[in-house]
Amino acid sequence: TSQVHDISRTKSAELFEKAKNYFPGGVNSPVRAFKSVYGTPLFIERGDKAHLWDADGNEFIDYCCSWGPLILGHNNAEIREAVSAQLHKGLSFGAPTQLENSLADLIISNNRYIEKIRFVSSGTEAVMSAIRLARGYTKRDKIVKFEGCYHGHSDSLLVKAGSGLVTFGETSSAGVPKAFADETIVIALNDKAALDKVFSDFEGQIAAVIIEGVPANNGLLIQDKAYIQYLRDITTSNGSLLIFDEVITGFRLSFEGAARYYDIQPDILTYGKIIGGGMPVGAYGASKEIMGHISPDGGVYQAGTLSGNPVAMAAGIATLSILSQPGFYEKLEETTLTFVKRIRDFITEKNYPVSIFTIGSIFWFAFSQDEKIQTADQIAPSSMEKYKVMHRELLNRGIYFGPSGYEVGFISAAHTSEDLETTHAAIQEALEIVFK
Ligand code: PMP
Repeated sequence: TSQVHDISRTKSAELFEKAKNYFPGGVNSPVRAFKSVYGTPLFIERGDKAHLWDADGNEFIDYCCSWGPLILGHNNAEIREAVSAQLHKGLSFGAPTQLENSLADLIISNNRYIEKIRFVSSGTEAVMSAIRLARGYTKRDKIVKFEGCYHGHSDSLLVKAGSGLVTFGETSSAGVPKAFADETIVIALNDKAALDKVFSDFEGQIAAVIIEGVPANNGLLIQDKAYIQYLRDITTSNGSLLIFDEVITGFRLSFEGAARYYDIQPDILTYGKIIGGGMPVGAYGASKEIMGHISPDGGVYQAGTLSGNPVAMAAGIATLSILSQPGFYEKLEETTLTFVKRIRDFITEKNYPVSIFTIGSIFWFAFSQDEKIQTADQIAPSSMEKYKVMHRELLNRGIYFGPSGYEVGFISAAHTSEDLETTHAAIQEALEIVFK
């Protein structure tokens, strides 16, 4: 069984104290501050394959994977070499490079859902641009989003957003003008009647409905295909666009993401995370006709000094080249299913009130016995207390999960059967403590 070691965080704690002088909350992105779990954040020194080392020299098996981008694990040799080769040629030119063509070709020729793409530098930027495009294209202002979906921190979407915001018990952000929020309508997932109502109440005014490919920022809320088809049909019949935010699911569920999983053609798709192989890249894509509305071809303005950055493109090309090889996703999914099934068997044997949900190589622990969890309000905030205990016990056994129970875990192609075996033993011990 795995060693119980109350890991020393002396160095990390010191660094965190210093960081508090420099950054709000000591961090550059809120969830990193460990506000939703016990203890203080680990300062990471390096990563290799599925492993992380912190400033105190502790080693962890990583299931956060930089919140999703690292589907090939840390320090992948092919990505590292592609990036270092590019470093010697320059970091940024603000002019077109062949690398952008290569990455776009790799994506478009393997993805039946988009004909043209635009690279940006984050998921937030991709979604913000997609929303502007939808508004410019339809000449309508209102957008519809779902409770339990997170789409980055642009003003229009910080309306009852998930992830860190739910964790902090806020429903929206200060600083977003009410007039902006008025243009965003938030409804529950998995609710056809709510969709019907929104389209009848705001007839002719809705530019787009945006949904995460599979909602994975507020637990893992796997929707039924029939519901997504209903969403597709109602948007089409009302002249509204359907946006799949595939920042997590893109290149994760399959090379063609959730669109392929549902076999549904959305109007605009957004990407981030995996597309840059760990470098800051986002993208949005659509048909030639819709993308023709983006400047300089069309009237919807969108730009970026570092967009299509050559070093980031090199990382993206190296990553997606590996992912586009036959059998990659089948193998990763099989590994994940084996891992999840063993945990499920243990939970069933012990009759613990916890479930593990999974899709592709994503998994999520819900401290509830509901057979399906498809809406944000099915998650009891009190269940997060149990996650906190599990998180602490896992960390003390060298297993790094995201520091919030609303966050999903990721399996990478770098996780070995030995890693998963060690993790399984640690999860058993941690759950025994949670339900002691
Ligand atoms: N959309 C989704 C579905 C996301 O999961 C995220 C980030 N977790 C974003 C958008 C925002 O991406 P970024 O953090 O790169 O701005």
